[in-house]
Amino acid sequence: MRVDLHCHTTVSDGALSPEELLKRAALLGVELLAVTDHDSTASWAEVNRVNAEITKPLQLVTGIEFSTLWQGKEIHIVGLNFTPGHAAIAALEQRQSQVRAERAVAIADKLVKKGVPDALEAVMRIAGGQQIGRPHFGKLLIERGMVRNMEQAFSKYLRRGKPLYVAPQWCDIPTAVAAIVAAGGVAVVAHPIAYQLSHVQMGELLDLFCGAGGGAIEVAAGQHNPGDVNRLAELANRYKLLASAGSDFHYPGGWAELGKNTRLPENVTPVWQQWIKEGAV
Ligand code: AMP
Ligand code: MN
Ligand code: MN
Ligand code: MN
Repeated sequence: MRVDLHCHTTVSDGALSPEELLKRAALLGVELLAVTDHDSTASWAEVNRVNAEITKPLQLVTGIEFSTLWQGKEIHIVGLNFTPGHAAIAALEQRQSQVRAERAVAIADKLVKKGVPDALEAVMRIAGGQQIGRPHFGKLLIERGMVRNMEQAFSKYLRRGKPLYVAPQWCDIPTAVAAIVAAGGVAVVAHPIAYQLSHVQMGELLDLFCGAGGGAIEVAAGQHNPGDVNRLAELANRYKLLASAGSDFHYPGGWAELGKNTRLPENVTPVWQQWIKEGAV
């Protein structure tokens, strides 16, 4: 089964609209899909509507990618297969949206001091009225000739410790996990390799996550190499976590494609196995 349980639309920092993303996933043969926009489920209705209109509808599950703060690091927790519109998810979405808006204003203020007087107005235009993420500021820096590309925007300005970084007030890991679990979903540690954790830190993170009720870890992901996948499969089994798979697709032509690099090794239990048993997909 071709699976993708992690991808983004224009509702967050993806390039494709919910309709374009669903159609691209169908074209590429994805059979089971979760759209996981940053701190938002706003694409769900549109993705569903379009899915019902195509010749061969996909199996869809609800998704979201919550931003959390742990030991000063930004850790992403994906939520899957929760009840759409559940109050626990909606309340946390609203809180995170406020945090995101306040951070955008703070970053824009810094940018004004760097000689971009219309920073907030410009970044709102780039985000198309949707939630503002750091990649939207990256686009603005490129547009104004302050950097050559997105990688440079992050390495020179947007990354932690750089001049435009504003420490966000994201919720903690247990809060995100609790909202997902309350809504009947499974909480997943997203792209564990990206955080560059030591062995000890990874253990601490997974102890906290499991204690809070977390249920799965991304084993196959767009940016994981075969060594990463094996290491994460071992961690999944050691911590009795289910294995998830998602590309983290943001835009066509980048390092990740919908449904690519999402094959799980044989020795793990796919997170979707229980959904199939329950008849949810
Ligand atoms: P935010 O959630 O607004 O803090 O933005 C984080 C997003 O920026 C991530 O989800 C990625 O899509 C993107 N991102 C993070 N680091 C980089 C990087 N070095 N180059 C390009 N995009 C990045
Ligand atoms: Mn992103
Ligand atoms: Mn992420
Ligand atoms: Mn993501």
